[in-house]
Amino acid sequence: MKKILIVHKPYTILEPEYVKDVCDSMDGAAAYCDCANKLIVVPLKNNEGEELTNGYRLELLEHEIIHCLIYEAGYDGTGWSSDEKLVEMIRFISEYIRTTGVLGCLS
Ligand SMILES: [Zn+2]
Repeated sequence: MKKILIVHKPYTILEPEYVKDVCDSMDGAAAYCDCANKLIVVPLKNNEGEELTNGYRLELLEHEIIHCLIYEAGYDGTGWSSDEKLVEMIRFISEYIRTTGVLGCLS
């Protein structure tokens, strides 16, 4: 069991073989988070029993962290923390800024 801080709140990271090993009702999800209970689940395998690559698992973790960041920033009442399109757009923007070196233009 691993812990990370999201906006100063400790979250538990679980890495079960399958999502359904932790939560039956989330069977079929690639990963999931429960912001109210400070829990993120990133499985080792997909629903077909194939092992997930570390790169894909990091993408899943980033996606779930964004859900939690929106929630912990106080936007839960807006519905944004559960808006999958918004979360994926933020993940894309974050990846773009991180991987393209655009911030290096100031150095
Ligand atoms: Zn999501």
